[in-house]
Amino acid sequence: MRTHHCNELRKAHVGQTATLVGWVNTKRDHHGVIFIDVRDREGVTQAVFRSEENAAAAELSHTLRHEDVVLVTGSVAGRPEIDGQSTVNPNIDTGEVELVANDLQIVNRSEVLPFQLDKELSNEDIRLKHRYLDLRRPRMARNLKIRHQVAKACRDHLDEQGFIEVETPVLSKSTPEGARDFLVPSRLNPGRFYALPQAPQQYKQLLQVAGVEKYFQIARCFRDEDLRADRQPEFTQVDIEASFVSSDQVMGLVEGLLARCFKEALGTDIGGPFPRLTYREAMDRFGSDKPDMRFGMELTDLAEVFRNSEFKVFSGALASGGVVKAINAKGFAGVTTGQINRLTETAQLHGAKGLAFIKVEGGEWKSPIVKFFSEAERAALTEAMDIEEGDLVLFGAGDWATVCEVLGRIRLECAGYLDATAGNEELEFLWVTDFPLLALDEETGKWNAVHHPFTRPKEEDLPLLEAGDKLGQIRAEAYDVVLNGHEIGGGSIRIHEGELQTKMFAALGIDETQAKEEFGHILDAFSFGAPPHGGLALGFDRLVMLIAGEESIREVIAFPKNNRGIDLMSASPAEVDFKQLRELYIKSTRDEKKPE
Ligand code: ASP
Repeated sequence: MRTHHCNELRKAHVGQTATLVGWVNTKRDHHGVIFIDVRDREGVTQAVFRSEENAAAAELSHTLRHEDVVLVTGSVAGRPEIDGQSTVNPNIDTGEVELVANDLQIVNRSEVLPFQLDKELSNEDIRLKHRYLDLRRPRMARNLKIRHQVAKACRDHLDEQGFIEVETPVLSKSTPEGARDFLVPSRLNPGRFYALPQAPQQYKQLLQVAGVEKYFQIARCFRDEDLRADRQPEFTQVDIEASFVSSDQVMGLVEGLLARCFKEALGTDIGGPFPRLTYREAMDRFGSDKPDMRFGMELTDLAEVFRNSEFKVFSGALASGGVVKAINAKGFAGVTTGQINRLTETAQLHGAKGLAFIKVEGGEWKSPIVKFFSEAERAALTEAMDIEEGDLVLFGAGDWATVCEVLGRIRLECAGYLDATAGNEELEFLWVTDFPLLALDEETGKWNAVHHPFTRPKEEDLPLLEAGDKLGQIRAEAYDVVLNGHEIGGGSIRIHEGELQTKMFAALGIDETQAKEEFGHILDAFSFGAPPHGGLALGFDRLVMLIAGEESIREVIAFPKNNRGIDLMSASPAEVDFKQLRELYIKSTRDEKKPE
């Protein structure tokens, strides 16, 4: 329908005839002359309607409203000077020209929109209800384009590295990734259910047994989680698996892949290889397994300072095998009481009894605990924490895991108050390696896989799997890639031997019968010459979010659910007809009392 798109006409086109098609972005009436900006996905071009050119078209242009779809034909003209003033608009790429219209067709009319497209809207529900309108905004159009570019960069890069894309079933069997499954009843097999994949984990491993050697997929995954912060029940992963590879090779591949994504979407060079920290170091220094490295404020160990202290909260924690650590929030002595209260709440929420702190103001240490410190302790603390005027030092004492976790959260919260990353354009990538293989669920007393049950223990820790009492010490051959405090991907080298997999299941409390029932196919597969293999999955939505500079993955998903898991546009999930349920052999118990 068009000769040019709306971001194409330049001075060089002056004198030519052009036809544009698009939406009425803005309309202005200057003494009876109508100016509209016609918008398509590429940009906007101004069209001007004067009765000299075509009286009927000029007349019709008066009836135009925002978001009407129009087809405008005219001749391209330079923007004139009026009263010695240039009318060039430097804010748009087509700002040196305008289309002097001699024909107008109104292709389709638009009702008045439920919200204006040129204003930021804080009510996300309205945006989601009319997502097709929300996506017309240039920012959202840009996000969709970035998403496409990143997907294409992944495909191109992996293809060049010899990987082939293989699709795996969406109607599949439960695979444990730590969340609840979405279930689909099978009409043809009454009483049986498919599970939607939480990840294609088992299929990609089976593809290695099948000899594919290098697999990838931009895969949709489904996890029925309580929707915390920024999660979606369905999300996308760049899923990768390869045979005969080491952890180093997988990490190298992913560094190259990420470099390609940032280069193609933003033109940015991210460098590499990325620094690496073991899980233990990451927790010790940053109190997080996905540390934000754009600022310091590291956790400092103070065992040597307080081992013999009069202050029993500290020396007692150390005596019972715990730790004392602190962070120095430099320049934050002016913390308000409200902020301290909130920080204390955070500490308590994550297992601390309270939050001891010292404010350094007017040359004085303001804190109820310093009266217990000896001169030597004060001196040693000053040195260890580099304490200066204006600082706020915050302490944690107790068992290692709790203290690290608590101070890690406090560190992030202080960074938030201090705007520590404001204006910081840096991309701080890192690998976190050597995660624990298993974690004890305190409530049930059972061991769970930290990643998933197919993750390989580190070779030197293999004997511990049988020792039984040291399960918590086993490290996994696993790695997470982190960017600016976000985990953007994770993976591992896998178990490929049936015997070892059975041992792993045993450690997880899955006996042989249950293992056969649930994972018989994978144990069978491992008995037919399974190659050593490993891989990783990148959280595609989060990656695109970070590349696009957005704060929520919903901004980079065309049709996301809201934080209650609802698609407001189509009003799904929806009730279904009783007959449909009967065909599926399903009866709703919604109105019955929930089992205790
Ligand atoms: N399947 C894992 C996940 O979804 C990733 C992997 O181990 O490759 O987190």
